Amino acid sequence: MLMERAERVLPGGVDSPVRAFRAVGGTPPVFKSAQGAHLDDEDGNRYIDMVLAYGPHILGHRAAPIIEALQHQLQRGTAFGGPTALEVELAERVVNAVPSVDMVRFVNSGTEATMSALRLARAATGRDRIVKCSGAYHGHADMLLVEAGSGVATLGIPGSPGVPRTAVSDTLTVPYNDADAVRALFQTQGEQIAAVIVEPVAGNMGCVPPRPGYLAALRDIIAQHGALLILDEVMTGFRVAYGGAQQLYGVTPDLTCLGKVIGGGLPVGAYGGRRDLMDMMAPSGPVYQAGTLSGNPLAMAAGCAALDALRDGRAYDTLERLGARLAAGLSAAAEDAGIPCAVNRVGSMLTPFLGTTQVDNYDDARRADTAAFATLHAAWLAGGVFWPPSQFEAAFLSTAHSDADVDRVVEVAAAALRTLSKV
Ligand code: PMP
Repeated sequence: MLMERAERVLPGGVDSPVRAFRAVGGTPPVFKSAQGAHLDDEDGNRYIDMVLAYGPHILGHRAAPIIEALQHQLQRGTAFGGPTALEVELAERVVNAVPSVDMVRFVNSGTEATMSALRLARAATGRDRIVKCSGAYHGHADMLLVEAGSGVATLGIPGSPGVPRTAVSDTLTVPYNDADAVRALFQTQGEQIAAVIVEPVAGNMGCVPPRPGYLAALRDIIAQHGALLILDEVMTGFRVAYGGAQQLYGVTPDLTCLGKVIGGGLPVGAYGGRRDLMDMMAPSGPVYQAGTLSGNPLAMAAGCAALDALRDGRAYDTLERLGARLAAGLSAAAEDAGIPCAVNRVGSMLTPFLGTTQVDNYDDARRADTAAFATLHAAWLAGGVFWPPSQFEAAFLSTAHSDADVDRVVEVAAAALRTLSKV
């Protein structure tokens, strides 16, 4: 058993906790290869992949343009420790796609992107406090690992052993989709708040879209108080639209964090924004941030290929059509089974919350029936569908998924939900 071997040498047998299936039970498949919308495991099983490595593979696995770009780059080298044309190529694509971004700095993960953007925000404002939403995930930097406050904004409580109290003592939490809570915070401590960091579409409490006007209200409140709005588009960037959620919802942040899709499936992150802010980064300015493999040529090449394949916008039409088909199918399956279910979706990001009809924030999400979700998840796995192994993760579609793939996902869910409704 590979997982048994894995557990002897890797904590929990994995390199990232959710992969271990603790939230749903059971043993995760050990993957061997992938093509398009499909994954193959070491035991010879095939799955429709609804995880897509948690977002990056928007064109499906091993998309031809990405493989070609990687093969081309492999002939030339994988890291040089100096500037390359490829970094400029990808930076120009990002700057052209995302109007709020004048300049960008590449890093190796989303965690580094948010961590660095917050350092910059603190340096630019001369303030220490930061605001995040409960149930939001911005990577595993100490200051962002803050347990959800219950409703009212509270001073941070460390969300993991090993996070010093002092590291989170300047982190404030508010409920997602609640502009009044942010307004109230700024009224009492506006002069100490450097930035509000928000997932424009929450993806880490399951998929939760912004209510109409929420992001615009945040933008106004934050600007009035001289703080910065950081949109964490690690998940939504180039996923919900070519210009990200900020294009979709017409909101202009001061700084943007990116990752996932912009690396074409290779390790990457990026943060960018206004020129006056980005010019504060070393070596132009005094704010330090660096990385041995940052902007590495393989990730840059794969990222350029991915963005080039997405630029004309047709991919987003396909993704919207597939997403709508999946959402409608899951809603109908739940309704037929008589199980309440809020299916939240933005384009190709989606979560069905079982046992509840409205999910606008983390408190709502936590009301979902996670036991029922675990049953559904097991049915999907047995039926050849790899769905994210937690109620609080968004599923993704790629342009490589077919209508038949989507219909199969719905068919397996429908059977599982019928069984659940009889319990
Ligand atoms: N921000 C968001 C919105 C994310 O979804 C994630 C990862 N899922 C991160 C930051 C952290 O990115 P990484 O795992 O690459 O460090």
